[in-house]
Amino acid sequence: MNKKFALIGYPLGHTMSPFIHNRLFELTGISAEYEAIEIPPSQLSSQMPSLKSLDGFNVTIPHKCSIIPLLDELDKTASIYGSVNTVSFKKGISRGYNTDSFGFLKAISTAGIELKGNVTILGAGGAARTFAFESVLAGCNLTLCVREQDLPQAQQLLKELNNLSPESSINVKTLSQAPENTDLLINATPVGMYPHTDASPILSDFLNGVKAVFDAIYNPAETLLLQEAKKAGATTVGGMAMLVWQAARAQEIWNDITFKESDISKLIEEANAELARLFRS
Ligand code: NAP
Repeated sequence: MNKKFALIGYPLGHTMSPFIHNRLFELTGISAEYEAIEIPPSQLSSQMPSLKSLDGFNVTIPHKCSIIPLLDELDKTASIYGSVNTVSFKKGISRGYNTDSFGFLKAISTAGIELKGNVTILGAGGAARTFAFESVLAGCNLTLCVREQDLPQAQQLLKELNNLSPESSINVKTLSQAPENTDLLINATPVGMYPHTDASPILSDFLNGVKAVFDAIYNPAETLLLQEAKKAGATTVGGMAMLVWQAARAQEIWNDITFKESDISKLIEEANAELARLFRS
């Protein structure tokens, strides 16, 4: 019998998750279906009993935090971030995980980028939280760079990071004060995302001397920021690698399997090609 998985969120619009998960099922030979289910925030708890008929599901905005009280158990990955993107059902017990951090760490490590030294993160929203927690846990010196209006949001994140690691060096600055001696620059804002592909979150002058750049945006595959960083001599990696690796990790959890790096690298290229076909045909 086919296993059944899903993505829940609201609104979902176009999502790459069914494409990625179906290709992952093909790789493992697991017979399974993956569907996208829109659930408005007011219906999350009433829909929970029907979700229990699934073998597992992914969670996206706006349910990543509100799903937590509805679950039996939380994995360490989810309790650190207070955010769940994957739910498994085993022996009738629902357990929440966060596979975004795994996706981020795999995306950079497979591109040959080390999480060490001076890390600068642009933005202070959901994705920035993941990158900031991982950077601090890895012992990096962290600078969060945000718009003036987002300084209170960044200060709140700074407080949480200080609680996690009081010894760490963490600063909050505006985008125009981004530090020059950055080993890894991470874009966690939506600036540069399709269709506004001629925008970049930071002036190219700041890229001189930056060793590596990770852009969480996956549409387009190569943002203006990544193009400019490459020209300035940095190692670059786009967000599709994180999206595919977090999905692969979810399937590893659901189905007790392990994927080969070479298969996932091929799938990242396929997913980028599929996105280009969908959005630019
Ligand atoms: P989010 O929670 O809305 O956070 C975005 C951050 O960027 C917020 O601090 C936001 O400030 C700030 N921001 C918005 N517009 C800006 C602008 N014009 N200039 C400077 N800062 C701006 O979104 P998110 O979920 O973190 O996602 C951020 C990006 O990461 C998106 O492009 C998303 O697609 C991508 N992402 C990728 C993956 C992946 O697997 N590759 C996973 C998650 C997210 P306000 O709160 O004031 O708007």
